[in-house]
Amino acid sequence: MSFQLPNTRPVSSSERVNFHCKCCGACCRHVRETVPLDTLDAWRLAKYLRGRGEPIDNLDTVFAKYAEPVILHESGFSMFMLKSTGPDDACIFLKDNRCTIQQAKPRACRLYPFSVEPTPDGRYKYLLSLERGHHFKGGQVQSGRWMKHNFLPEDREFMRMDMSFAPIIALLLGKVPDAERKRAIIMYLWYKFSDYDLGKPFLEQYRKNISSLISQLQRLAGTEGQNGR
Ligand code: SF4
Ligand code: SF4
Repeated sequence: MSFQLPNTRPVSSSERVNFHCKCCGACCRHVRETVPLDTLDAWRLAKYLRGRGEPIDNLDTVFAKYAEPVILHESGFSMFMLKSTGPDDACIFLKDNRCTIQQAKPRACRLYPFSVEPTPDGRYKYLLSLERGHHFKGGQVQSGRWMKHNFLPEDREFMRMDMSFAPIIALLLGKVPDAERKRAIIMYLWYKFSDYDLGKPFLEQYRKNISSLISQLQRLAGTEGQNGR
């Protein structure tokens, strides 16, 4: 399921939607560079895979093995998407039309066919993807309940932080002089995606890392102490 779902319409939290997953796997195919694996997703996945016996000590292993970076801006601002494989570009975790990481699948997959968009007042707007018609019969879900079950408080807090810090980081990356760009991108990748202890709570580490990243980028961009960064 893609990062920006095509053909969506807004739904209220009280709306009931006819939906029943038929486990056809269609939404997990043709997903090249479209299923985001954000840092919280990778942290959960690392713990889950390690629990299944995979030799995973950190997030780097998960990103290297199961995801690929997609550069969103020439400044180096980027994100990770799940790898796809085979002639139909199926998600690397799809086997026999089933998701093999059901308990730890990324937020975008948990929410599908719904998705969320932040609103200026710090809340979230719910959207429903209409791209596939065959699953809109045979069952019923209330969108608010779906979100309560699948869009967890930790996801909400992470997304809120991520969305508020993203423009600041992108701006600072853009201001770093060319001579320091490589160093800035390494710092960006380190703090945003790498420097996490799987044994400690995630959000606290994320907040601390992003704060360190912003300080380091301000130093490289020469904007330390300036208002508005
Ligand atoms: S959500 Fe829809 S497209 Fe995806 S597996 Fe279920 S029925 Fe198929
Ligand atoms: S993680 Fe699972 S649900 Fe998400 S695209 Fe891959 S196989 Fe499908």
